[in-house]
Amino acid sequence: MIYIPKKINVMGQDYKIIANKNLIETLGRYGQCDFKNKEITYDSSLTAVELLHTLIHEIDHALKAETGTYQAVNSDVLEMCAENTATLFTRLFNISFKKKS
Ligand SMILES: [Zn+2]
Repeated sequence: MIYIPKKINVMGQDYKIIANKNLIETLGRYGQCDFKNKEITYDSSLTAVELLHTLIHEIDHALKAETGTYQAVNSDVLEMCAENTATLFTRLFNISFKKKS
């Protein structure tokens, strides 16, 4: 079990962190970042590792929005950046989706 704050501050902007019971079912996503409404939503069924990875991914989207990068880069590059950031941080702390044999 990991502690999830109700909100985080990204470059001076507060983002609500919201659990959703059926984000995967309805949108096919583990998480999403709504930077217009300053909300990061995650599916409440995620494991702790999936949740950490997802939150880092979505926070990277918020960071890109708040720094103006979001508007300057295409969506494929933004997805790659968010996924690379999430993978980097979870590896730094030895957390991985991959099961150890
Ligand atoms: Zn993404």
